[in-house]
Amino acid sequence: MEFLPFTRPAIDEDTIAAVGEVLRSGWITTGPRCQQLEAELSAYCGGRPVRLVASATAALEMALQIAGIGPGDEVITCPLSWIATANVVLKVGATPVFVDADPATRNIDLAKLEAAITPRTRAILPVDLAGLPVDRERLYDIASRHGLRVVEDAAQSMGANWRGERIGSFGDLVSFSFHANKNMTSGEGGCLVLNNADEARLFEKLRLQGVTRFADGTMDVDVLGGKANLTDIAAAIGLGQLKKLDGFNARRRELAQLYFEHFDRELGCALPPADFEQSNWHMFQPLLPLERMSISRGEFIARMKAENIGVGVHYPAMHLFTLFREKGYAEGDYPVAEDIGSRTVTLPLFPAMTDEDVIRVCRTFSAVLRAVLH
Ligand SMILES: *Cc1c(COP(=O)(O)O)cnc(C)c1O
Repeated sequence: MEFLPFTRPAIDEDTIAAVGEVLRSGWITTGPRCQQLEAELSAYCGGRPVRLVASATAALEMALQIAGIGPGDEVITCPLSWIATANVVLKVGATPVFVDADPATRNIDLAKLEAAITPRTRAILPVDLAGLPVDRERLYDIASRHGLRVVEDAAQSMGANWRGERIGSFGDLVSFSFHANKNMTSGEGGCLVLNNADEARLFEKLRLQGVTRFADGTMDVDVLGGKANLTDIAAAIGLGQLKKLDGFNARRRELAQLYFEHFDRELGCALPPADFEQSNWHMFQPLLPLERMSISRGEFIARMKAENIGVGVHYPAMHLFTLFREKGYAEGDYPVAEDIGSRTVTLPLFPAMTDEDVIRVCRTFSAVLRAVLH
């Protein structure tokens, strides 16, 4: 049996040819392909302005800058995410304030969010974990009642929707990632959906040294920018992927449904929310019944690997990392995030998988786990 990774990008021959064209064209950095991808992403997001960037991490950091967030400000987020989500808050000099995860959705617990709001709170940074959207009605209701900006970390939820409305087509600032593991990739890369032309213009400056170029060939710099523009090489990959995104996501939903059909329900694992309408099924993550197991999660993953099945961990609760422990966070602060973070495993889920692959993963998962249950 061939090794089945937990994810693998699907790049077609047309895309590979399009990258070759860019390489032969003499223009390989930001150029016409980036412009075209920005236009197509904007169309995908209901006509809102979209700007490309070298990573979603950079998009989030610049989104916080655009929202005017800096030292002394607090940004509310969830400790159950990729570490980028909180790092960007620290990068702009603000303070991340965590709210525990909801055990049902595994996203930020909106029932606990308002208790975390202080006079210093300026924004909410919600994460659509595994591609399952945070409840946008409750989220924006809270934000508007308290006058807060929202920076959506939608890195994992491209193509997902909230009650039929595509993520990115509404709301405040919305960031998507095109990292190699995401539902749509450009190798590395990302984009930010913005509210208006002024924000888009500021974003363009922030991603490229603060520069404004004028028609007469002169330039000016009036803000401090960084270097986070995307290349046309990456944009050519993104263009090929965007064409296929809805098809990819439809296949991911089918595969997730198959997981629910074939998963051994007697193992005592908690399955993810069975949402086949809104989620884009970026990941499929059961929670291990650790208290009934005679081996650790790490050993379980090693045994799956020995059976040629790749299993990931996304993610340990981030407030337990040294960087945050040093700021005073400790075990027990966010028990739901800690519990999910310690038990979660990511099983293979990517569009090129066959139905038989899912059945094989379920069968192997069951056999490996049953052998160590007490
Ligand atoms: C991937 C990811 C990011 C960061 O995306 P990059 O493009 O790798 O910078 C941020 N947040 C979440 C939830 C992610 O999954």
